[in-house]
Amino acid sequence: MLKKAVGFLFIPFLMCITVAHPFSFGDGLVRASQGSSPISSLQTASVKGIRYWSNAAYTRIVIDLDGEVTYQDHLLREDPVLKKPPRLYIDLKLARLSPLLKQPIPIEDGLLKRAMAGQYTPAIVRVVLDLKSVIHYKIFTLADPFRIVVDILGRPGKAKKRVPKPPSLQRPRSIRVVIDPGHGGEDPGAIGPKGLMEKDVVLSVAQKLRNKLRRELGWEVVMTRQDDHFIPLEERTAIANTKGGDLFLSIHANASKNRRLHGIETYFLNFTTDKDALRLAAAESGVSPERISDLQLILYDLMLNAKVNESSQLAECVQRDLTSKLKKKYGKVNDLGVKQAPFVVLFGAKMPSILIEISFISNLREERRLRSERYLDEVATAIFHGLRRYVQNTRMAKAQPSWSISTALSSN
Ligand SMILES: [Zn+2]
Repeated sequence: MLKKAVGFLFIPFLMCITVAHPFSFGDGLVRASQGSSPISSLQTASVKGIRYWSNAAYTRIVIDLDGEVTYQDHLLREDPVLKKPPRLYIDLKLARLSPLLKQPIPIEDGLLKRAMAGQYTPAIVRVVLDLKSVIHYKIFTLADPFRIVVDILGRPGKAKKRVPKPPSLQRPRSIRVVIDPGHGGEDPGAIGPKGLMEKDVVLSVAQKLRNKLRRELGWEVVMTRQDDHFIPLEERTAIANTKGGDLFLSIHANASKNRRLHGIETYFLNFTTDKDALRLAAAESGVSPERISDLQLILYDLMLNAKVNESSQLAECVQRDLTSKLKKKYGKVNDLGVKQAPFVVLFGAKMPSILIEISFISNLREERRLRSERYLDEVATAIFHGLRRYVQNTRMAKAQPSWSISTALSSN
């Protein structure tokens, strides 16, 4: 099926993070005729790199280009006669391959053997993914810098069955939370009227929450960033998926041109007609407001696998604890409620996932609060209570080892 690449603009600070990937690849795929070609006079985009993150049941591949292209994807069944593995290939139209990309990338995890690319015709770059088994996949594009994201999922029941260990040898696994402090590095996020930066505030809350979850509940915590550096949005979700997170939360501080706006709101991934929610999703995803509809278009393809109900319940728990606990300490706290919108950082997340706007950094009073360690402690504690309540209220609790639950229930 021919798909039109759906691009949208990311704000300029993201542009400087695109670098040629150290991996290089591409052999046996070159069918381009030698010498000059009329194609060379056409505008083509250069395929600059391939990045990937993977575990046994999931791989995210990102193809980086320096311009927009259209693509066509095909899934080929295994050919036992020719001894060819099943393959997913993606033809990028009006594209050329960077000379740096010569060698295949060995992946060799549960789903993929390798990725490679070649100049298939003078106008087409073909990216080939050699698979280990038949898979389920989704493709979407992001822009500025333009990139094509391929999410590859194992099909439940098709994976090799492992012989389960007897219960006495099974190690109980606690809940694993992936915390994503928004922005970082050259991306400060929103900046308050007195200069406070969103990236610093959300990192601090994330660290406090991490420490509390580990210390008081014994949960495992994975942070998408530990310090002040930038990570592309698609990598944050890839971390959550490949690390096998049970829950994923992206922490942000809100901003509006209207400095009087204040309060707390929590989002989960879904379509919306709410203009303010769309504007926020665009801002948090680095997309110009004119192209926000592109995000909703991408969502049509992704919603099938999204954990909408669980995510909305998780959002309710966190939002309720955030507002009720902060009201007790600070009196006036505006509960803006649970909302839905197409945030890129939540695209393709396999677990219940939410994005929290802990306060408006653009509001003078809330910026002042966000400067206070005590307030950030209270915010982290309230999110902690919300997460714990969600786990207690859902089936996740039943799947947990008894020690983990008793710890959760006894701790306040
Ligand atoms: Zn943000």
